Amino acid sequence: MAWFKRQSGELDTSGEKRVRTEGLWVKCDGCRQIIWKKDLEENLNVCPKCGKHFRIDARTRLAQLLDDNQYEVFVDLKAYSSRLKQAKADTGLKDAIINAHGKLNGRPVIVSAMEYSFIGGSMGAVVGEAITRAIEKAIETRKPIIIVSASGGARMMEGVISLMQLAKVSAALARLDAARVPYISVLTDPTTGGVTASFAMLGDLNIAEPGALIGFAGPRVIEQTIRQKLPPGFQRSEFLLEHGMLDAVVARKELKAYIARALEFMAQAA
Ligand SMILES: [Zn+2]
Repeated sequence: MAWFKRQSGELDTSGEKRVRTEGLWVKCDGCRQIIWKKDLEENLNVCPKCGKHFRIDARTRLAQLLDDNQYEVFVDLKAYSSRLKQAKADTGLKDAIINAHGKLNGRPVIVSAMEYSFIGGSMGAVVGEAITRAIEKAIETRKPIIIVSASGGARMMEGVISLMQLAKVSAALARLDAARVPYISVLTDPTTGGVTASFAMLGDLNIAEPGALIGFAGPRVIEQTIRQKLPPGFQRSEFLLEHGMLDAVVARKELKAYIARALEFMAQAA
């Protein structure tokens, strides 16, 4: 019955064709359309069709925010466990963060960008220390600091040490505030757990990218605790803006100009 049975090898798609196109196209989670990867990258990794903001790594973020992709990375982080070896090999980073100083529309700034692909952007002792040092550098040099969050929260493998970072970073931000140096928090997809519960919500200005997941506990845990169904869009940027948890939702394309204007305003007000 050859009509019903597939001849072996007849529909073999594992050949050259598939290999050649691999990685050239991506499917958008937002509109389910197929996008040419190059188009996506040229559009700052924002879907040209529906505006969905794709996740980007810390280096891409720095390149987008700082002038002419010119910046210097600071804080030399030391390894603290062999568990991190794989993440280091995968990302080429020493932990889930890059601290850099450079210029943003001509103004000297410090940027700490979190790297989600490094153990879910989780905050352990090293990330906490790196952010604290970036804040201290901001105080010392009186340069505004921008922290771009992308994190699953505290790094559970480090237990209570990871929770200590919430207090440590928050205390450093209190010193920054006392020194009257501006801090802009940029929340990107996803910003959750201990990072939301500490520095991500402590900016002089808290701004988020469109459609970013932002929250403390997951929706399932909350529903079980309050015994209620959560509304749609709960824990997304737009919902949080509407409910007064954020100051603005800013598209990636506008982000740099928006931060520059905010810093200009803060400098005049100071
Ligand atoms: Zn799309």
